[in-house]
Amino acid sequence: MKQFPESLIIGVDLGGSKLMVGLVAEDGTVIETLRHPSGGLASDPTEVVRQIATSVGHLKRLTPQTPISCIGVGSAGQIDPSTGTILVSPNLGWKNFPLRKELEVVLGISVSVLNDVQAITWAEWHLGEGQGYSDFLCVFVGTGVGGGIVSNGELVFGSRGTCGELGHTVLNHMGPLCRCGNFGCLEAYVGGWAIAQRVRQAVITHPAAAETLIDLAGGDLESLDAAILAMAADSHDSLANRLVAEIGNDLGLGISSTATLLDPQIVILGGGVIEGIPSLIGIVENVVNSRIILSSTNFIRVITPKLGSFAGVIGAALWAKYRLVPAQS
Ligand SMILES: [Zn+2]
Repeated sequence: MKQFPESLIIGVDLGGSKLMVGLVAEDGTVIETLRHPSGGLASDPTEVVRQIATSVGHLKRLTPQTPISCIGVGSAGQIDPSTGTILVSPNLGWKNFPLRKELEVVLGISVSVLNDVQAITWAEWHLGEGQGYSDFLCVFVGTGVGGGIVSNGELVFGSRGTCGELGHTVLNHMGPLCRCGNFGCLEAYVGGWAIAQRVRQAVITHPAAAETLIDLAGGDLESLDAAILAMAADSHDSLANRLVAEIGNDLGLGISSTATLLDPQIVILGGGVIEGIPSLIGIVENVVNSRIILSSTNFIRVITPKLGSFAGVIGAALWAKYRLVPAQS
């Protein structure tokens, strides 16, 4: 028989293209979730605060007898977790927005905010593939490239909370312009938006070899993206396979530098681009292990995450609970 929980937690996963608000038990079980397409909505932070508050109200009414102890938010962008302020979020278009303060005023409940991939890292560490490890990297490749770092048994935040921004480490200072304004960042090579550019450029440069890609795009080069590349690679198209190998090599190089720096036991590699092109996992694993410093004796496995699309909600909720009740040991 299902145990009636003493209290519940709300987890919020806030990204450039989605808002998911979930009711989560203290053991990380997801009881209910509400999703909202963000679209134009996310450009106005006050509107998003209202949307989150409305969702929290709906979820509270599902279990009126059970109190909500706290709320955790995993948000795209660079977050200061000590204040819950979103410093910069290019995907949301926000800057210096005090999300924690705004939500606490509206909801009257303790709120914690951290980066969305840090939230996923926390979830994978406690309930997913990171269980039992003291040192691992969690890398998510979607539109952008995000990261979370567990080192010496701690989720690492750095001085302002932005530790783990793997996507904006520089592969090549002469490389393409990144959305952050820098040149040659890893994200400018392997983020979803950069992959779309690479596919378009490859089709323009090698039109004779691009028949499959052009067909899949319905003849519209502007619609070429990572999803179409994935479909072409699935059908063993040679140009698509070559692009996947190049993208995997670049991603592996970026991760190997961080792996050399941090000496992780494993790398958890997920996100929409990896789900669409799962062969990237093996390519990245080979590159990482051929490039890490020779004194590293361990083979670093590169594996897919376990928790799926609820990972952000679960991680944000469990992080908020952890912040509310520090571990006694
Ligand atoms: Zn960048």
